[in-house]
Amino acid sequence: MRIDLLTLFPAMCEAVLSESIIGRARKAGFVTIACHDIRAFSQNKHRHVDDYPYGGGAGMVMQPDPIFDCFADLCGRLHTRPRLVYLTPQGRRFDQDTALRFSKLDNLCLLCGHYEGVDERVLEEIVDEEISLGDFVLTGGELPALCVADAVARLLPGVLAGEESWQEESIASGLLEYPQYTRPPVYHGRTVPEVLLGGHHAQIEDFRRKAALARTRARRPDLLETAALTEADGAFLQALHAAQAENGAE
Ligand code: SAM
Repeated sequence: MRIDLLTLFPAMCEAVLSESIIGRARKAGFVTIACHDIRAFSQNKHRHVDDYPYGGGAGMVMQPDPIFDCFADLCGRLHTRPRLVYLTPQGRRFDQDTALRFSKLDNLCLLCGHYEGVDERVLEEIVDEEISLGDFVLTGGELPALCVADAVARLLPGVLAGEESWQEESIASGLLEYPQYTRPPVYHGRTVPEVLLGGHHAQIEDFRRKAALARTRARRPDLLETAALTEADGAFLQALHAAQAENGAE
C-alpha cells in the first residue's frame, strides 16, 4: 500500500514517519509513505499558498490552485488517482473500522489543512472523504494525518511482528485490552497478579479475558453492546454486576 501526504510541512511529517515501527516498515518495503510540499506548487513569486477569506473574518485560507496542482502532479506520477481524504474537525470521526477500510486501498492520499482550512472548491472537486480526529481543533492537519497514516500502516501485513498483535488490541478486538505488566514483579509495593507469573496459559487467558471484560464494562460499556461475547463472558458480566450491586457500588 502507498500513503501520500499533501502538506505545507513535509519535514514535520517525515520526522515522525521515519521513526520507530513505521520508519522500519517503510525501509523494509511493507508500506510506502511519501510527503509532498504543497508550497512547491505555488505560482506566487513569494511562494504564498494562502490568502484572506472572501467576506472577511479571522485568519487565512489555503488557496485552491497549489492543492489542485500538487494532487494532479501526484496522480500523474502514480498513474492512478488515490482516494483523497481531507483531515478536518468537520469530518466523520476516525475510528478503527475506518483505519481497516483504508488499509485495504492500494493508494490513500491525506490532505492536511492549515490556517482556517482550505478553499471549499477543493473539497467540492477533488476530496473524496472528510475525516476528523475528534471534537477539538488543532492548528493543522499534519498531526491527524500522521495518526491516520500510523493507524492504517500498522494494519498492513509485515508492519507489526504478528497480525494478531493488532487484532487482540483495544477496540479492534471489540473490547478494551486487559492490563499489561512487565518486570519487575514488584514495583513500589504493587505486585503483578500471581496468575501471570505462573506460566499456565489457560489460566492466563481466563484472567485476561475477565480483566478485559471488567475494564470495558467500567470504562466503555457501549462496546459491550457490539462485542462478540461468549456465554461464559455473559455469566462473568452478570456475576460482576450482581457483586457490585450487592456492595452498593451501583
Ligand atoms: N476553520 C476550521 C473550522 O472551523 O472547521 C478549522 C481549521 S483548523 C484551525 C486548521 C486545520 O487543522 C484544518 O484545516 C484541518 O486540516 C486541521 N484540523 C484541526 N483540527 C482537526 C481535527 N480535529 N481533525 C482533523 N483535522 C483537524
